[in-house]
Amino acid sequence: MKQIIVAIDGYSSCGKSTIAKQLAQYAGYRYIDTGAMYRAVALQAIRKQLLEPKSNDALEGGNKGALADHIGIILDNTHIDFVVQSDGTQHVTLNGEDVEKQIRTLEVGNGASQIAVIPEVRRFLVAQQQQMGKNGGIVMDGRDIGTVVFPEAELKLFLTASPEVRAERRYKELIEKGEQPVMADVLADVNDRDYRDTHRDESPLRQADDAIVVDNSHMTREEQMTHIYHIFDEKCK
Ligand code: C5P
Repeated sequence: MKQIIVAIDGYSSCGKSTIAKQLAQYAGYRYIDTGAMYRAVALQAIRKQLLEPKSNDALEGGNKGALADHIGIILDNTHIDFVVQSDGTQHVTLNGEDVEKQIRTLEVGNGASQIAVIPEVRRFLVAQQQQMGKNGGIVMDGRDIGTVVFPEAELKLFLTASPEVRAERRYKELIEKGEQPVMADVLADVNDRDYRDTHRDESPLRQADDAIVVDNSHMTREEQMTHIYHIFDEKCK
């Protein structure tokens, strides 16, 4: 059977990666979490003190010039990979270092959405993503997969849920990871990220014309997966 490309886009915290992982397992495909790649570049920029993770306007402020001047050097020295663990999960590595835990904080997520507006960063990561998926048999999730990375993908899903439902889910995730988030901050972060992701000049988040929309605000995980497996099976017929 032909191995297709499945592109999954949508807002932050609407369960994209969980769905993408489960669909990849169902299909026997490789899963690529492109958000992890933006997060890894952000972590590198934070470590080089070129990005203030907590400040939403770092790129409007004093850091903008320094980051823009150094972004080429940062990217030249950033090698991102995914390593499959013995339990089947994937960890992202940055120059060979496993940074899976470090990239999952609220701060690095926020930093990722700041560096994601930089055209050089997008070009750098999109080229790698296209290389990873060129032979099909892949489920890739992100913000621009169906519109920019693989506009020719055979199946495009666009996931969405209300900001409140997404903030609630993210809050629970952070608590499970041992962080002590404040609900109002988490909701503000969801709204900030939505705004930045949909309003940036470079590859803004938008639904591809041929994407199938799945609003999971009021769906259980099982209902959602049954629905998505059905769409996938129909596409592969
Ligand atoms: O999906 P995740 O929350 O891990 O992504 C972190 C940030 O990286 C997003 O808020 C978004 O700004 C950026 N991103 C992007 N394009 C992608 C994946 C992620 O701009 N394909």
